[in-house]
Amino acid sequence: MKATISKIAVLTSGGDAPGMNAAIRSVVRSSIFYKHKIIGVYEGYKGLITGGEYFKELSSRDVSGIINKGGTILRSARSEEFKTKEGMDMAHKNLIDNDIDALIVIGGDGSFTGAHVFGNKYDFPVLGIPATIDNDLVGSDYTLGYDTATNTAVEAIDRIKDTASSHNRLFFIEVMGRDKGFIALRSAISIGAEAILVPERPFSIEKLEQVLEYGAANKKTSSIVIVAEGACSAVEVAAQLNERNNNAFDTKVTILGHLQRGGSPTCFDRILACRLGVLAVEGLMKGEKDVMVGLINRKARFTPLMTAINGEREVDEELLRVDSILSI
Ligand code: ATP
Repeated sequence: MKATISKIAVLTSGGDAPGMNAAIRSVVRSSIFYKHKIIGVYEGYKGLITGGEYFKELSSRDVSGIINKGGTILRSARSEEFKTKEGMDMAHKNLIDNDIDALIVIGGDGSFTGAHVFGNKYDFPVLGIPATIDNDLVGSDYTLGYDTATNTAVEAIDRIKDTASSHNRLFFIEVMGRDKGFIALRSAISIGAEAILVPERPFSIEKLEQVLEYGAANKKTSSIVIVAEGACSAVEVAAQLNERNNNAFDTKVTILGHLQRGGSPTCFDRILACRLGVLAVEGLMKGEKDVMVGLINRKARFTPLMTAINGEREVDEELLRVDSILSI
């Protein structure tokens, strides 16, 4: 490991998230601001292993006009080869051959696991910028893409709600979030859902039935149940309910799926990306490594990658309480 940093590489890895481009732009421009060379590595760890044309020096102009774009100009990939010794050795050789002193990984928990293993194996400085719509990392109140994905879900559910109330229907809407209920909880409160099923709370079909029957008895013209993908399948829970009720409800199921992943980042995600990119470069300059940069209560924090990945991120009890009060 070199004492000072003069050349940094940046890549995006794993699932794409809105705000990744804004983070790339921020990393590139702050590197140049501090007189470092900055190399964009295309297609994540796959590009790191392949080298050659997958490594490209980036200028300020190369990242013009991307702050508002979804996806990632560096493209993303999943690489099984990076989990092998041969793959990691090749990646390390390519970094050394290109005189690169540090690596910034923009991604989620899988990407950070790879970054941690790699950084420790070769004593190479790695720093993570959290970018995943699932918000499932410890060390930042928000990960890049989470706010945009939630707003996208809310907009879609608002449209479905128009149909639900016009036809007196019960809609089960499945949202993303992997094994966490963050997108589900915030979108449920925002659209005024009647019920929410999140992985963090045990789910009971009897309780759900009671809530929906109570709503119907209280002259609700429609009901929306938000189902986090990590809690259960919306299709299955709708089928269970219909079986118990002899199809008493006019039930529909919508799985929002990948439409939550793309799109132009919100103002919140753009500003978060801008801040995290600058902090990442400044962190490397101060000797931070094997850490994820994040914001907690709007203050910069560097959290060890393993804590970011393995720490338990609790669902917001206060929001669950608010939801249960307001959904009557
Ligand atoms: P998302 O949360 O959006 O799915 P992610 O960063 O968690 O994004 P993964 O597909 O889990 O995405 O991981 C991305 C890549 O990280 C993998 O394809 C692999 O190359 C690398 N990776 C994951 N786990 C390891 C590991 N144990 N060792 C080395 N590399 C790993």
